[in-house]
Order: sequence, then structure tokens, then C-alpha cells
Amino acid sequence: DTVTHDRTYVAAIDQGTTSTRAMIFDHSGQVVASEQLEHRQIFPRAGWVEHDPMEIWRNTRRVAGAVLAASELQPHQVVACGITNQRETTIVWDRTTGLPVYNAIVWQDTRTDELCEYFAGDAGVDRYKSRTGLPLASYFAGPKIRWILDNVDGARERAQRGELCFGTVDSWLAWNMTGGVDGGQHITDVTNASRTMLMDLRTLAWDEQICAEVGIPMSMLPQIRSSSEVIGPLRAAGSFADVPLAGILGDQQAATFGQACLEPGDAKNTYGTGNFLLLNTGTEPVFSDHGLLTTVCYRLGDQPARYALEGSIAVTGSLVQWLRDNLGLIPTAADVETLAAQADDNGGVYFVPAFSGLFAPRWRPDARGVIVGLTRFADKRHLARSVLEASAYQTREVIEAMQADSGVALTTLKVDGGMVVNDLLMQFQSDILGVPVVRPVVNETTALGAAYAAGLAVGFWESTDDIRANWAEGGRWSPAMASGERERLYAGWNRAVIHSFDLA
Ligand code: ADP
Repeated sequence: DTVTHDRTYVAAIDQGTTSTRAMIFDHSGQVVASEQLEHRQIFPRAGWVEHDPMEIWRNTRRVAGAVLAASELQPHQVVACGITNQRETTIVWDRTTGLPVYNAIVWQDTRTDELCEYFAGDAGVDRYKSRTGLPLASYFAGPKIRWILDNVDGARERAQRGELCFGTVDSWLAWNMTGGVDGGQHITDVTNASRTMLMDLRTLAWDEQICAEVGIPMSMLPQIRSSSEVIGPLRAAGSFADVPLAGILGDQQAATFGQACLEPGDAKNTYGTGNFLLLNTGTEPVFSDHGLLTTVCYRLGDQPARYALEGSIAVTGSLVQWLRDNLGLIPTAADVETLAAQADDNGGVYFVPAFSGLFAPRWRPDARGVIVGLTRFADKRHLARSVLEASAYQTREVIEAMQADSGVALTTLKVDGGMVVNDLLMQFQSDILGVPVVRPVVNETTALGAAYAAGLAVGFWESTDDIRANWAEGGRWSPAMASGERERLYAGWNRAVIHSFDLA
């Protein structure tokens, strides 16, 4: 092993909601080098969230160049590159000039709430659920494309003439990285396509009827590829020239793959901007009766697709950012733990961070954020605590929904993401669930998952057994809370949530 894979590596671009990373991994899945750049969050009005696609592409080139320099490797030692990305975020660009016609509309953006209500009509929000696995919600890409075609001058006509491309961020990067206006490939993978609300989950093809009803010309749509196959050589990606692009996965599917959740029943929870719990359900899509999404988990080459049930929570880590940026209560995200630890408990304070409505399992676009239970006693320590606890309560709601849908009881929770360095949160999560919480040695599971997909396609890793073998436990928190206390706190959360309804 060390002989055949000596001095060769796999790279991954992880284009997330807050930042863009480039990472290089060795055959054991360890990080060799990592570079990261944040990009601007654009909030033009309440409920709107945008990114600048050109800034994202520029940052991608920069981190790709920087990571190779930092690794001190030669380009030929990198045998494949994967892409993983913030999902649903929607970009429309001109295929001749390469210029976006509008900013990227980010997944958290709620401007399409009314459009979704209109599409739901008498049929209800589950109109497309049996085909796409998704409820009609502002979260998904389809309605965002429609908004751009309706609101950007001339966009619909240009789209009808075949001049415009739609892509989620993976498509935008893949097109640019494989040559852009000089022959860039307009592609996406099955996992990203499953978040548009335009793809049929069973056929893994665009659903012409839904596209017609939502008003999206088929000529705008990228070709749907598997998550792990050689797509072509990179032409313009920092220093990765000629390295084959060989894997694409949406960030949450990538983390699921990177966490070696490869068997039906395996699940992980990622704590980033939002939280995303995915349960591998095998080769058949399972449809939820409890507010979960059905999505493609991954597809390796021409093997059958694997599906997942997903609980998406819009706001977890971004609530910590809000405490930092909008209130200025903490200088850095990590300080939330120090502040929260100064209080013995939440002092009766609950924070329901329904900034983008509530996603899984409640799907309440009418919800907005509330802080309840305030007394003269409450102060910033309790607020910090309520911010962290909100991630744990929302996670428990999703896990209860998953157990109700699948009938399988959770025995441990695999976790990853930016917030898992927070011990107080992880301990509280274990306490409020009553099961152990475990994290892997390599917390960068998202980038690692994309690297695995790319490396499998070129034979750097032989099979998914290599992925299983690479997973190692790096930390564990066990429940230490009395069950009476656990249920008292959770009941308090459930009472608080009701106050967030009907505020939009
Ligand atoms: P994404 O991939 O969605 O951009 P990351 O996995 O990088 O997100 O996680 C970043 C999020 O984690 C931010 O929202 C930040 O507020 C939060 N975060 C970072 N460090 C901590 C910490 N020590 N405690 C709590 N939250 C944290």
C-alpha cells in the first residue's frame, strides 16, 4: 500500500456557504495541506442571501494554487480532483461570455416563498414529492431559477434562445475549471441535481413536466453525471492543470460518504452553517411521512444510485455568527463556548432561530426567529447557551422524525463540521439525545468525501472498503444527564417553537 501510493495524492475543492477550501489528502485519508478563503455574504434585504459567483470562482483558483504550494507537491503527484459544494445555491450565466446574469441566490434565501405557494396551489406543497422527494420550498434551486428568469431583464428570452446555463455551484465550478467559454463542460452530479426539485429520483433524469410547469427551458440544464467518474482534465483551476476532475458530490452527501456511511442505516450529522442529518437508505428511495427529504446519497459510476433520508436544519452555526456579527456579543465563533460555560444552564431562555422559516421536520415558511423565557435574571451567558442548545434541540427533532420514518432506533450519532470542536455543544447533544456522539479523526469529511469519489474513479482507492478502513474514531461524548432533566428541557424547546409561527 505505502509502496503503490507513495507520493501520490487526491485534491478536493470544498465550496461552502461561508468559505472555499482546497485540500489534499493521502491514501489513508489524512489531510496533507489545506487552504481556505471566506467570501462575502450579501444581504440585499430581509430574507435575501446572495453570493458573488465571480468571487467564488476567484477564491477557488486562489485556494487551489495555494494548497499545491503549501503541500510542496508537484502537480503530477495529484492524481484526481473532486468538487463538493454548498447545495441548491443557484447561478445562471451566459455560455458565450461566461458572465453570471445575477448573483448566486443562496439556499437560505426565502424570496421564492410566494412563488412556491403559487406552485403548490390546490395540490399542496407535496405536489412533486413522489417524483423529486422534496416539498415545494424556497430552499431548492428550481424556484430560484424561475425567479431569475422572471426578474432579470431579458433573461427569459436569452434562456429560450439557449444562451444561458443554469448550475448549482458544482456546475459553475466544473464548467469554469474544465475550460469555461473555451469548451467548459456543463455538467452536474446526481446528488446536486436531486436538490433542484427538477430531477426524477428514480430515473435520475430531468423531469420534463416539472420543468415545463416551473417554467425552466431544458436547454439551461446541465448534463447529469454520476458522483464518481472521470469528467475531464482541469484547464483553469489554480495549479491543478491537467489533473482529472473525477468526482462531484453535494456537501452533505460528500460528508456522508466521507464518514463511511455506506450501508443502509448508517447516518451522520454535520454542524456547519446549518445542520444536515443524512441516513443512507440503500438502493431504494424511502419517502418520509415526517418532514424529511428524500435525496440521492451518491452514485458511483454506473452502479445503482444510493438514496438517503435527510433532515435539513437551516440555522445552527449561522446563529453563532449572528451572535458575533449582528449583536457583537462575542469576538469569534469559538467564544460562544466560553460565554455559555459561565452559566450553569439556559436560565429558562430558548432561542428558536427560524431566520429562513423552519426547515425539517416542521417546514414552516411563516416562522421567524424568537427568543423566549426572558426574565430579569437572564443575561448574555444564557443567550449564548440558548444559541448552542438550539442546534441540539433541532437535531433531536430531526432524529425523532427519522426514527418514526425508518423504525430504526439510533444507537450512536456520527458528527462532523465546524461546530463539533465545541465540547459544551457536543456534550449537550449527547445529553439531549441520550445516546453517544462520536466524531472521526479527520473532521474534514466533506472535502474527504469528494476526494474519495474522485480517487475511486481513477483507481487511487480500489473500493469503498478502503473508505471504511480509513474511518477512525477521534472523539466521543456520552450522555450524563438525568432523563427527567432531558425531557424537561426538550419540552421547553417544544413550547418555544410554537411562538415562532405566523410571524412572516
Ligand atoms: P460551512 O461548511 O457551512 O461553511 P463549517 O463546517 O465551516 O460551515 O462551520 C462553520 C460554522 O461553524 C459557522 O457558522 C460558525 O459560526 C460555526 N462555528 C465555528 N467554530 C465554532 C465553535 N467553536 N463553536 C460553535 N460554532 C462554531
